[in-house]
Amino acid sequence: MPDIGFLNGRFMPLGETMVPVEDRGYQFGDGVYEVIRTYHGRPFQLDAHLARLERSARAIELPMPFQTHEWQGYVAEGIRRGGYPESKVYIQLTRGVAPRDHLFPVAVRPTAVMTVREMQPLDSTLRAAGVGAITVEDLRWGRCDIKSVNLLPNVMGRQRAKESGAFEAIFVRGGEVTEGAVSNVMLVRGRVLITAPEGTRILSGVTRAIVLGLARKEGVSVQERAVGLDELHGADEIFLTGTTVEVLPVVRLDGAVVGTGKPGELTGLLSARFRSSLG
Ligand code: PLP
Repeated sequence: MPDIGFLNGRFMPLGETMVPVEDRGYQFGDGVYEVIRTYHGRPFQLDAHLARLERSARAIELPMPFQTHEWQGYVAEGIRRGGYPESKVYIQLTRGVAPRDHLFPVAVRPTAVMTVREMQPLDSTLRAAGVGAITVEDLRWGRCDIKSVNLLPNVMGRQRAKESGAFEAIFVRGGEVTEGAVSNVMLVRGRVLITAPEGTRILSGVTRAIVLGLARKEGVSVQERAVGLDELHGADEIFLTGTTVEVLPVVRLDGAVVGTGKPGELTGLLSARFRSSLG
């Protein structure tokens, strides 16, 4: 079964899913996206992802080409057509195809693209041992709450991380930790869980919200506040949250050991609670 593509309401093999070079996503990065995964074959937190897609689109004044129930149907259909044990669904919306001009084109319909591929889980040894991360300057724009397709700083950061033997790049803006290139960042000091607050500097992660909810349910004290880089370096535990990484321990930061050098206790607890919440 070939990977599944979808363009403006039509399914087709991914290899045949083509967008013209004058698509504004290609020329300007004028678009937004979402990534959704399945657990037990069902899309996880689909409504939260679709709500965020709508928020992102509204924030850049991009009309939604489909209503929520239509997206729900298309996602279900894509997953069914793919037939994978677990799927990874990518949705991208751009301001459409028009002669290159910065101004919004008039009477042009947005381009809606979806791809469905097999979800490859993260290597379980990596998850058990924890990963390395590096910190990089946050050179992104001022609206990181919008899930924009402009990912150049994220691409550069993750490449730098890989070349340093690390998994994730953690952005730091003006001495404060914002988030990872593909994840939100949480740290533990004592029994307190600390993470950057929602706002324009981070993406409001779907996994972040779930994990903070699980932590509060466990009676863990949660602080959503500015986190200094020094604080991150002095953390007892650090972990990442995100659709693709789930709850992923960070055991090395900028080449130095985090805490004991092993995944921390609270990280382990929240990771276990997260897994069991999946049913
Ligand atoms: N922050 C950034 C920059 C991301 O790209 C992602 C995931 O794509 C996240 C955070 C985590 O968000 P979510 O948990 O909704 O996947």
